Amino acid sequence: MSEIEQSPEILYTPLSEAIQELNRRRRIPDLCRLVESFQSEHPAHFLLDKPTAILARSIHSADHEMVRFESMIRGTELTPHLLEIPGDLFTSVNHDKYRRGKLCFDFETKVRSLRVMDFNCEGKIISTIPDVTGRSLVDYHRALLNDRHPALSMHTQNVSDWFLSAGKISPYYLHFLSLSIKNGIVFENFLPHEPEEMAFFRERVLPSFLEATRIFGVRPLIVRLFSDAEETTDKIWHYPGSLYPLALKLTRRGNLKCNTSRKFPASVKVQTGLISGSMTWQHPKTSIRNTERYGRGVFANKRIKNGEILFVIQGPLLNRLEEMALPAEVIDKPIEISPWLSISPRSIEELEAMPQHFVNHSCQPNAGFGGQMFLVAMRDIGRGEEVTFDYGMCLRSNSETEFRMECLCGAENCRKVVMGGDWQIPELQVRYAGYFQWYLERRILNKSRSISNA
Ligand SMILES: [Zn+2]
Repeated sequence: MSEIEQSPEILYTPLSEAIQELNRRRRIPDLCRLVESFQSEHPAHFLLDKPTAILARSIHSADHEMVRFESMIRGTELTPHLLEIPGDLFTSVNHDKYRRGKLCFDFETKVRSLRVMDFNCEGKIISTIPDVTGRSLVDYHRALLNDRHPALSMHTQNVSDWFLSAGKISPYYLHFLSLSIKNGIVFENFLPHEPEEMAFFRERVLPSFLEATRIFGVRPLIVRLFSDAEETTDKIWHYPGSLYPLALKLTRRGNLKCNTSRKFPASVKVQTGLISGSMTWQHPKTSIRNTERYGRGVFANKRIKNGEILFVIQGPLLNRLEEMALPAEVIDKPIEISPWLSISPRSIEELEAMPQHFVNHSCQPNAGFGGQMFLVAMRDIGRGEEVTFDYGMCLRSNSETEFRMECLCGAENCRKVVMGGDWQIPELQVRYAGYFQWYLERRILNKSRSISNA
């Protein structure tokens, strides 16, 4: 292992040197043109035309890191530029993200923690995650930032689109580092003590750093926020104790709901499975995660018994015309509840609040419908098992819909292609009797009645 791989330290430039170097580079026309030509491949429209101090996080807040950032750039000629990526996905294994949900406040002799979100949000888009009052987690932190660092707060910019699309041009970190050649200085700390951070450093940061140095002939300017000794403690993720009263107050605003729920023992709250901000109800023993095969899916975290309600399906009610006008990313999402009505998210944002639409199809499902609103377990569902229903249980006939999906479910009895009108397959009518959407259930029943009457 080379020296550089063992220590991220070698990537950092001392602040005063970095400022000098930045000013020098901004006066070299060839270098500036080279950077601009590289950036035109993936335009960073948000760039300011002055030397900037760049801090990029999923959500900015008023933690020790922000305090340090502010004190470091105070008195320099750098304009702060806080890039925010709330379009990123939430994961609690990432310290940075975890500490936006459970805040630790430093007091002289102790640490006090405050949970500000429901952690049943793994894999969700951060901007759609509510805080404990049902409002946006991003707004929660913006209130903290506004209070402590009003000047910095003004320089915050949502650059999710740019960040997330850079991944398609790969390696995305290279594009990020191109901002630190002549535009500004990136403030960061790569944590060699955290295995996850170290892997990120070796796989993404280091190769991009070397590549940027090769392309531009100069090093990206990265200034270290915390010292080695500071990095080894968890404290760099903490918040100043003096911020605690405000942080607590913000968890109690609009408090009618809070007062009511306080009458119940804490355990009852956990068992409700209600996700604040969500339009629907999801069984608390289920969670959404990546299937590794076809995007996200719903999984049982614990054993669920036959007959238990998995979801209460709620959301915007769409007619056929509205269904046909849905944007491409949610066009296949409607759950049909009548010949002309369906429940469906109308955008990616709404999809995040309607977790029932993450339930995938299987030709050997373990769930089916109860009426129009309930998705229920058709049999016991084991721990770790993916929750699935057969889309044929709700799809209209193909004269009414164009639905056609190649099936990858892998079940022995897989139909290979799932189509509108599959409810008409006699074998399925027997297997799923009682679990079709109510309107199909009625059609099937009327048909068999008319057959027996004939
Ligand atoms: Zn199948």
